[in-house]
Amino acid sequence: MNLSADPALPSEGYILSVAVPRPIDGLFTYKLADEMVAQVQVGGWVKVPFGRTTTHAFVVELPKRLSELKSDVPVASLKSVLEVSDQGAVFPEDVLALARWASEYYSAPLGEVLHCAAPPAALGLKNARKEARSLKQKELETRSATPVHPLNAAQLLAVETLEAVRVAPPSAQPKVGLLHGVTGSGKTEVYMELARRTLSEGKSVVLLVPEIALTSQLHRRLEDGLGVTVGLWHSAVADGRRRDLSAALRSGELRVIVGARSAVFAPLRNLGLIVVDEEHDPTYKQEDRVRYQARDLAIVRAKICGALTVLGSATPSLETRERVREGRYALARLEHRIAVGGMPTIELVDLCIEERVEKVQAPLARKTVEVIQKTLDDGGQVMVFLNRRGYAAFLICQDCGETEECPNCSISLTVHKKDRQLRCHVCGHQSVIPDVCQKCQSDQLEAVGAGTESLEEDFPKLLTGARTLRLDRDQVTSTTRLEKILNQFSSGEANLLLGTQMLVKGHDFPGVTLVVVVLADALFRWPDFRGPERALQILQQVSGRAGRGEKPGRVLIQTYDVDHPVIQVLMGTLGEDTFLESERELRKMLNYSPFGRMARIRFESETSNDAKSNAAAVAQALSPVSEDWKIDLLGPSEAFLERAKGIYRWDLLIKATDIRGLQRAIFLAKDLCQRKKAHFIVDVDPYGVG
Ligand SMILES: [Zn+2]
Ligand SMILES: [Zn+2]
Repeated sequence: MNLSADPALPSEGYILSVAVPRPIDGLFTYKLADEMVAQVQVGGWVKVPFGRTTTHAFVVELPKRLSELKSDVPVASLKSVLEVSDQGAVFPEDVLALARWASEYYSAPLGEVLHCAAPPAALGLKNARKEARSLKQKELETRSATPVHPLNAAQLLAVETLEAVRVAPPSAQPKVGLLHGVTGSGKTEVYMELARRTLSEGKSVVLLVPEIALTSQLHRRLEDGLGVTVGLWHSAVADGRRRDLSAALRSGELRVIVGARSAVFAPLRNLGLIVVDEEHDPTYKQEDRVRYQARDLAIVRAKICGALTVLGSATPSLETRERVREGRYALARLEHRIAVGGMPTIELVDLCIEERVEKVQAPLARKTVEVIQKTLDDGGQVMVFLNRRGYAAFLICQDCGETEECPNCSISLTVHKKDRQLRCHVCGHQSVIPDVCQKCQSDQLEAVGAGTESLEEDFPKLLTGARTLRLDRDQVTSTTRLEKILNQFSSGEANLLLGTQMLVKGHDFPGVTLVVVVLADALFRWPDFRGPERALQILQQVSGRAGRGEKPGRVLIQTYDVDHPVIQVLMGTLGEDTFLESERELRKMLNYSPFGRMARIRFESETSNDAKSNAAAVAQALSPVSEDWKIDLLGPSEAFLERAKGIYRWDLLIKATDIRGLQRAIFLAKDLCQRKKAHFIVDVDPYGVG
């Protein structure tokens, strides 16, 4: 269709409907000057007036004749498009289709989804330099990339299994394969071989990773192994660089990227392969603006392109396991480690029985300290895992029992001794550690519980020859700083690395022969139906850090609860399959993911009453239709953190047997909230539901 103005006909004018990056549903229609019509491209962007300001907005459909304007919109009220960007389409068709799908599925405005896909930085809107620069390329495809290590038999078999899915003729089913490989089994080599084959067909590749800060090691391996430039794609990349990367991807100059969850929207051309590494990791779930699951979107995008999705994990999610069981995903397995040391041995330290070290903040058994000392004496490296940063969990008055709470959130403040501060880990509130109790003026204040900072303080008193590094969010404020810590550890400059969950993810330190979990119990109290599964995943991943070199690894797990099912699985007294099967049965009974559908509607207000009554009103409106639409309502109930950042939050959970019923319910709820001007957040497939 040629829409450029035909001078032979009297112009009746044009209109353009655009998606605005604001949390408001629907498209917004503007008048479009005749001379702009030819410049407008679907997938591009324009500048429009919006409210009292101007904004960029995304073009998601072609301009129309003014006569096609819906009759209920007065022409005179229409504002005009101010400017058409000269960048052309910033979204390829498949990304636009993916954004439309996400907008509908997650019940999020299309403009908001597109904003996640192409934030202002990627469009060059935050950058003075208008033109994108061409990337400095490696010797692109000039030297043929060869595998650094030849693949072993198991890896070759995995490649062939997944390759068979990749080259299969297109069908209605998405092409998905699970690469289930134990820690240290060489999954990355399999990804690389699949990527090589995909690139050789002129197609492009995305590798999603859960923690972008930890990818520099992987990034180098990919560039060397594939012999092409690999782009790093995440929010911490400088604006100008981001703009250059976008342009290079759109032109096809760059064909491989590794990135965090938002890379699922990256504008690659002719996509052939998406790898989701550590597919079970909850960081793939975005928890602000548009609440999407990047792993799930990767599968949707790959399906749109006829591409292959490879989900890699040592501890696959129950959702993915279920799809394999149904025969919808292919399965490739790597059951052995590459290193000769084999799998580490795991030992329990029962904190109820074992003799403890005195006068330290964290619960530490004598035995644990002795094993650490022995490992260090033998020239080995040790990783110590504790799932809390700071010095102590909270401060309590021994006279009246008062604890210091955050003034903005319903949570106690964490003690950070070095900085002499109490900090809220939810809103960031800080105050000076008080000398006396605010309630009774007693000076008997005790710091209870332990964090990584206390271990850093106590270890030098307990160990000789320990050169300690700490890795957590307090310590690591930038990528460079993180790399420095990791380099210091891998070079052997330090021999003891202690940290939080950041330790868990994909590092390869062949010198580590001992891993210590200080308090496994901290992992058993998540208010989430995925909690037990998650606890097992973390402990398996942490254990997997030990013995990746030639020497065998050893893992010590300290706990008060030796009978916990997760502990039993780790010790081999309860089969992993038996444990997962009982988790699965429980979810099936309760109609939780992967069996039923769920959405959480969170009502927010400055007063608890408001939030509660809005939630109740929606629940009341939904209850008469619940039987017809096959939905179940849970709540209203106060959120796990009832108050966060000064805002009260009440939740209404909607469970449904199918997505249709769920979407109808969300639609009704949204409509009611908008009319009541209630503040609410829709979260489809939510995490943190207990
Ligand atoms: Zn007191
Ligand atoms: Zn707070």
